[in-house]
Amino acid sequence: MVTGGNKGIGYAIVKELCAKFEGRVYLTARDEGRGRDTVNTLKKVLKERLGIGTEAGLGLSPSFHQLDIDDQKSIDAFAAYLKNTYGGLDVLVNNAAIAYKVFFITNLIHLFDLSLVCHVSSSCGHLSEIRGDEPAASQLRAKLAAETLTEEELCGLMEQFVAAAKDGTFRQAGWPASTYVVSKVGVSALTRIQQRALDSDPRPDLIVNSCHPGYVNTDMTSHKGPLSIEQGAVCPSHLALLPPDITEPKGAYLWHDKSVVDW
Ligand code: NDP
Repeated sequence: MVTGGNKGIGYAIVKELCAKFEGRVYLTARDEGRGRDTVNTLKKVLKERLGIGTEAGLGLSPSFHQLDIDDQKSIDAFAAYLKNTYGGLDVLVNNAAIAYKVFFITNLIHLFDLSLVCHVSSSCGHLSEIRGDEPAASQLRAKLAAETLTEEELCGLMEQFVAAAKDGTFRQAGWPASTYVVSKVGVSALTRIQQRALDSDPRPDLIVNSCHPGYVNTDMTSHKGPLSIEQGAVCPSHLALLPPDITEPKGAYLWHDKSVVDW
């Protein structure tokens, strides 16, 4: 399933998975009308341009479910639907996340026997975006990069940022002046923590990665990005389609050309 699939990179990821993933693909969106309209458009696109859904194609077409990742009731309803209908979920592409509500993913990981998770991070999610040589920024980078960082500690750091942003002390505490940067650095850090936790999980083949999709022509960039949504979907789709027996990338941060970047 792909979050935020009704437009932009998420839409292109759903399209790519419909063409390549041997299973049911769920496009999710927070707005039911926008989501269903997109699914209907995509079904036509797949049929007319790619032959999917016809005899020549794989017979795959996207399904729809409402999911607002900022709404706990919506998350619970979708999780219950998956559990009751399919008994689980295999692959999750966390494309919509902007806020630190991204931690909803952890609940899904615990609930289902997921095999692959791809977080769509950003170039803004690189650790170097916590800039500066002053001790506060250096200490913050060290905490975020620590191999022992736990999810609770990461949540605590994110909450410290929110508090510091509210009272105007974020600069002194080493944080940048961007909630987007902090949330994406959090996503990248969470990827590493989740992979470490899953490595000691008795269930096999659990892989979590994050990536920068490139600078893409979407509403988010006011259509200034040079890459098409299909180009932006290349790395997230690659991570969603990794074979289960790989040894790497795992817990990694990838660039849009699929190369692993030292976080
Ligand atoms: P768009 O603005 O085109 O699309 C964002 C999607 O996320 C929309 O479908 C939107 O739904 C959905 N969304 C937002 N909030 C929620 C929510 N609470 N619950 C469910 N869905 C939600 O953005 P992009 O396609 O450009 O971005 C996709 C991802 O790629 C993001 O995580 C972004 O940070 C990342 N990224 C993008 C870059 C770029 O150059 N475009 C560069 C680096 C990273 P709705 O239509 O209802 O608003």
